[in-house]
Amino acid sequence: MRKLVFATNNAHKLEEIRAILGNKVEVLSLNDISCHADIPETADTLEGNAALKAQYIYEHYGLDCFADDTGLEVEALGGAPGVYSARYAGGEGHDSEANMKKLLKELEGGNDRRAQFRTVICLIEDGKEHFFEGIVKGGIIEEKRGASGFGYDPVFVPEGYEETFAEMGGEEKNRISHRARAVRQLCSYLDK
Ligand code: IMP
Repeated sequence: MRKLVFATNNAHKLEEIRAILGNKVEVLSLNDISCHADIPETADTLEGNAALKAQYIYEHYGLDCFADDTGLEVEALGGAPGVYSARYAGGEGHDSEANMKKLLKELEGGNDRRAQFRTVICLIEDGKEHFFEGIVKGGIIEEKRGASGFGYDPVFVPEGYEETFAEMGGEEKNRISHRARAVRQLCSYLDK
């Protein structure tokens, strides 16, 4: 079976992608190839960071691979926090409560609350880069709602829905999410 490295150790992402790729491709994690490096994510775009991560694996291991990067892009903030979504409130990052608090503060008093999640996947196949994108449009509400999911899920309501991603629960979110859309683009390319 064909093997592809996914430059992540995030169990949730691995499970999601293995479910979609099924038995067509064997998806290996960073742990599976004994890569314990802190791969740089120093680019200032989602495309740049996804490419940096995939290039690292290709250059060090010579294996076909892909990597993803996601950001929340808020219209009234000129696309911020974007590539800086994980560390929007400063520090080492991944403090979701602090990030949401800062976001709600920045949007206070404004009318335009449109936002989108965007995921970019960079695949390196035989040394050549291919990019795939998934977007889900929606809006930022004024107060957090819901307990499932992660990151900005409690403040994001996707277009056409009343619930936030955090109220929706995994199955429904995984069906319509930015990441699922990008992964499906990757899969249809791999299927060809
Ligand atoms: P990553 O590139 O998947 O690590 O995502 C970067 C950051 O974007 C995360 O740390 C979260 O703050 C945010 N993010 C990514 N995907 C989601 C999502 O599905 N829901 C809420 N926040 C997300």
